[in-house]
Amino acid sequence: MAGAGGWVHPYGSRRPVVVVVGGGVAGALVANSLQDHADVILIDPKEYLEIPWTNMISKVEPSVAEKSLINHNDYLGGTQVITASSANVRGEAVITAEGRLVEYTYLVIATGHTNQCPRNRRDRLEQFQEDNMKIKYSGSILIIGGESSGVELATEIAMNYPDKKVTLVHDRPRLLESIGHKAGGKALRWLRSKNVEVHLEQSVDLESMSEGDRLFRTSSGIEITADCYFSCLDGPLGSSWIRDSELKDCLDSDGRLMVDANLRVKGQSNIFAAGDITDAPELNQGYFVQRHAMVVSKNIKLLMEGAKDSKLLKYKPSSTTPMVSLGKTDAVVQLSFAMVVGYLPAMWKSRDLYVNRTRTLLGVAR
Ligand SMILES: Cc1cc2nc3c(=O)[nH]c(=O)nc-3n(C[C@H](O)[C@H](O)[C@H](O)COP(=O)(O)OP(=O)(O)OC[C@H]3O[C@@H](n4cnc5c(N)ncnc54)[C@H](O)[C@@H]3O)c2cc1C
Repeated sequence: MAGAGGWVHPYGSRRPVVVVVGGGVAGALVANSLQDHADVILIDPKEYLEIPWTNMISKVEPSVAEKSLINHNDYLGGTQVITASSANVRGEAVITAEGRLVEYTYLVIATGHTNQCPRNRRDRLEQFQEDNMKIKYSGSILIIGGESSGVELATEIAMNYPDKKVTLVHDRPRLLESIGHKAGGKALRWLRSKNVEVHLEQSVDLESMSEGDRLFRTSSGIEITADCYFSCLDGPLGSSWIRDSELKDCLDSDGRLMVDANLRVKGQSNIFAAGDITDAPELNQGYFVQRHAMVVSKNIKLLMEGAKDSKLLKYKPSSTTPMVSLGKTDAVVQLSFAMVVGYLPAMWKSRDLYVNRTRTLLGVAR
C-alpha cells in the first residue's frame, strides 16, 4: 500500500513508518513529535532517555537523575521501542545487532555519542548513587579530562566538598579548548581559587592501573595520590555502525553524517539526521539539538503530506558557544564578541539545567 508521501508501506497499515535510531535528546524529540502522524519505532540500546548535560551534577546530587532519566515508554505512548543497538542499514531497513530487520518509510539517525550505560533506568540511577558514595567517602579525588564534563565535575565537588583534595589532569595546554581560550583561562583561575590542583598537558594511562591503586603517575612523571578517580573524557561519535552500511559514503572524515540544508543525509531522499551525529557547522549543544529535532520532524510531516522538496524547512546553524557551570552561582560562556563570566551566564544556564523544559517538550510531568 502506498503511504501519503508515495512510499510503499512496509507493514501494510495506512501510516508511514518512521524509524528513529538513537534515543538521546534528538531522537526522543523527533519520535515524540511524530508519533501522532506516523507509526514510530525508536531503536536505542537503553530503555530510557538520558539528558547528558546533567550527568556531572547527578554524581554529586543523585536526586537530579530522578528527573533527567526518562523511560522512553513515558513519552512514546503506544509506539514501539526496540531496546537494541543498530548495526547496519540495508535497502529500506535498519538491522539491529541481534539481526532484527526493521523496515522504514522514513529513517532518522540520531546516534550522537556512545556512552556505555546500563540497559535500564534503575541500574543507571544506582550508578549515580555509587559515584556519589565514592565522592562522599573519598578524601582525595582525581578527575581525568578538562573539557566541560571534567571542569563541571571538579567545580561541583569543590563547591559541595571544599575539604576534599581535588586534582584535575588534562592533556591539552588549556582547559575547555572546544569553547575558547579565554573561557579556559577563566575556568583555570576559578578552579585554582577553590584549591583544585590542575595539571595541563599531562595524561594518565588508566590501562596500566589495577583495581584499588591509589598512586597515579602522569605522562611526565608527576605522582598524584587519590582515593578514587573519574574519567571525564568525551565518548566517541555513535557512527561506527554506519561505516559498513550503504550510508558509509555519507560520513565525513570525522565520522559525522553529512546533511543538506533540510537535515537530510547527503544524497538521500527519505533519510534524515539530527543532533551531534550531523556535520552541521556548530558546537554540540543540547539547545541546537532541539532545533534539529524540530526541523527534521516538520520536514518529515511535510513530505508525508506530499510537499515538494522546495517547501522543506532549512536549518540555520548557530554560532553561539556553550556555557560551562562553575558551581551553583557562576558559569562561563565565550560569545563571539566577549567572554562573560559570573551570575548572569549561570542564570542563562538555569539551575535546573533545562530538565523541566526537556520534560515539558516531551509531554512528561515535571
Ligand atoms: C558531560 C556533558 C555536558 C554537556 N553540557 C551541555 C550544556 O551545558 N549545554 C548544552 O546545551 N549541551 C551540553 N552538552 C551537549 C549535549 O548533551 C549534546 O549536544 C546532546 O545531548 C546531543 O544529543 P543527541 O541526541 O544528538 O546525542 P546523545 O545524547 O549522544 O544520544 C545518542 C543516543 O544514541 C544512542 N546510540 C548510539 N549508538 C547507537 C546505535 N548503534 N544504535 C542505536 N542507538 C545508538 C545512544 O545510546 C544515545 O541514546 C553536554 C554533553 C555532555 C556529554
